[in-house]
Order: sequence, then C-alpha cells, then structure tokens
Amino acid sequence: MNDGKMTEGIIYMDHAATAPAYPEVTAEITKWFSGWYGNASSTLYSVGRKSEEGVARARAQVAALLKTSDREIFFTSGGTESDNWAVHGAAIANRKKGNRIITSAVEHHAVLECVQYMGRQGFDVTVLPVDQYGMVDPAKVREALTDDTILVSIMHANNEVGTINPIVEIGAICAERGVLFHTDAVQTVGKIPIDLSAVHVDLLSGSSHKFGGPKGCGFLYARKGAKVDPYFHGGGQERGKRSGTMNVPGIVGTGLACEIAGSHMAQEAARLSAMRDELQKGILERIPDVKMNGHPEKRLAGHLNVCVEGVEGESMVMCLDMNRVCVSSGSACTTGSLEPSHVLLAMGIPVELSHGSLRFTLGSANTPEQIPYVLDRLTTIVGKLRAMSPTYRKR
Ligand SMILES: *Cc1c(COP(=O)(O)O)cnc(C)c1O
Repeated sequence: MNDGKMTEGIIYMDHAATAPAYPEVTAEITKWFSGWYGNASSTLYSVGRKSEEGVARARAQVAALLKTSDREIFFTSGGTESDNWAVHGAAIANRKKGNRIITSAVEHHAVLECVQYMGRQGFDVTVLPVDQYGMVDPAKVREALTDDTILVSIMHANNEVGTINPIVEIGAICAERGVLFHTDAVQTVGKIPIDLSAVHVDLLSGSSHKFGGPKGCGFLYARKGAKVDPYFHGGGQERGKRSGTMNVPGIVGTGLACEIAGSHMAQEAARLSAMRDELQKGILERIPDVKMNGHPEKRLAGHLNVCVEGVEGESMVMCLDMNRVCVSSGSACTTGSLEPSHVLLAMGIPVELSHGSLRFTLGSANTPEQIPYVLDRLTTIVGKLRAMSPTYRKR
C-alpha cells in the first residue's frame, strides 16, 4: 500500500492520527489540480461544469456510504471545521429555544473546546461522565436533558481508545425530546457501517484523511430540517450553508475514498482486528503490569490502547521511532509539560498510570508480518526503560 519512498521500511501504526491516502485517490486528485482546475461555481463554461460534476459525484459517493441523500452532505475543510460548525451553528440557530448544550468528557478537542467556548459566550454546558471503558450511558443523556437543552454532541467512536458509543439509543432519546443530536464520526466513517436512514442523527462530522482521503477536507451531514446556522459566510457556496471556493481535488478524493472504504469495510475490519488481537495478546503475555484501555468488544477494529506501568508514553514513542515504528501516546506534550489524556482521566485511570499510555491504531499501511517485530521491539524497550525507571518496582 505504501507508495511513498520516504516511508519505506517504516511501520506506521498511527492511523487514528492520519491515514495514508489510497493510491487511487492520490492519482485522481492530481488530475483535478492541474487538468480539470475549474471553479465548481463557474458553471457557465465547460471547465467549471466539469468541476461541478466532480463535486456532485463525490457528494453522491459520500451519501451512499452513509445511506442518506446527497442534499444533506456539505463539504468542509475537515473534522475540526465540521465539529465547530455543528456545535456553533446549532447553538446560535436554536438559542431562542434554549440555552443548554450537552456533551461528554471524552470528546475530541474540536468538540470539547468549541462547547467550552460557547459556555464562555453564555450557553450552559453539561459534560457527561463516561464509564471505565470510555462509553457514554444513554440513561445519563436522558437524565441530563432539560427543557432548555438545544444540542447533544456525543462522539461515535473515541479516537484515543476506540470505544464505540451507543448512538442509536442516544439518538432516539434526543429525537423523543426534539433535541438536535450531533455526533463526531471522524473515527468511524469508512470503518464501521453508518446507516443514517435508520439512526436518528441530525448532524454528523467526517474527516477525509482518517479513511484514505486527503487532509484538509471533510464534510458535515445535516439532516433536512435540522436548524443550523452557517459558520462561514460569503459567496453562498454549498447552497448558502458553507461559503468558500470548493476544494474540488479534496472533495473528489473524499468521494472516491468513501467508495473504496465502503467496498471493503467488513474485510478490512476483520483483517485489522486479527492483527490488533495478535498485538494485544502478545503485549499482555510478554510485558507484565500492562493495563488494556477501551471497551473489550465495542471497540474499533484497529485500535489498541494500553497503559504501561512505570514508563512514560513519550519515551516509548521515541524509542519505537528509533526502531522505525510510529505510534502515539495519550499524553500530549503541548506546552513542554506532559498533559495527561483527558480521555483516560475521565475513564478513572490514575494520572500516574495515564502517563504510560501507548496507542496503536492499525490501518491500510499494516500487514501481519509487522506484528512480531513490533512486539519484540516494544518488549525490549519497556524492559530497558523500566530498568531505569524510578517509579517502577518489579513485583
Ligand atoms: C482527527 C479527529 C478530528 C479532527 O479532524 P481534522 O480533519 O484533523 O480536523 C475530530 N474528531 C476526531 C474524533 C478525530 O479523530
């Protein structure tokens, strides 16, 4: 799958951060940059109409993957914009009805920070807790719904631990109360089936680079009739909902990625979970004092998140990188100090242990032969780091 020379020999296990674009997508996008470069809104001449057609096809491809109508798909610059648009747009459009926004403690920062921002603008915010697996209990959503609630935003699957939320139940509860339901489905689009004709979701965010499409492109599904204000104002593209010259190459690539991902979703999930289970089994067998994070069953196929006692996640990431293995840690070194993962903390994992988190997210770049090598390297690295660790004592 890897056609880039730079990543030759690299074992990339961080697909939740970004995934390589499908080679077919890369080839297709190139044509739309240089050959078919028309503005999709300049439809009085052929070059523009060609782009308009490309966008229309892509919209139909996205809609087909999600089992909805193409009139409910709006292209954006990615997951972050879609999340911000959904939260901000729904809050502003419905503020005459009420003032409360409900979300969960484990959302991606694109939702969490936006909701907190709306809180500073005068909205009331309820942040729901999660269980030990990082899952939101629908009963907690029901309890939290007040008469002045206008929006519930709960992610489909969590990016750090892969736990899949019961959005069918949550959607039904919101529908009963006439409250808008947004779900950040960035980690699930193209990975697990989403049937918007069967589940009650008003707004859904997707991001192309997480499932084989290009970076800087995504979409928001907005159910017909859902009251949402635009976030970008301007030339009135996307039927006045999202202004800005359309990213035609990105959009065409997004559509194609949806088609490809949709065509082999079940097989790919089976392939990834077999590798993931092998990796998980190996780690638990060979490395003592490791805690598995995330739901044992209701979890994305490629996700494996563990806490390794007595070792810093960042140290393991750097040591693995020296062995040409790319993974990530829950602790993000943002300001020079190690911030523990808000997701792991919300799951009740002690701060100390959360610093030892390691996330493997498998995807198209992985093959089964890579697993034994990664296991060997990790076992050696953890042994060495623990030997130097002031906090790890062998039991
Ligand atoms: C990556 C991610 C985002 C942000 O998407 P971008 O397209 O990178 O802005 C939002 N939510 C989740 C769950 C993600 O994993």
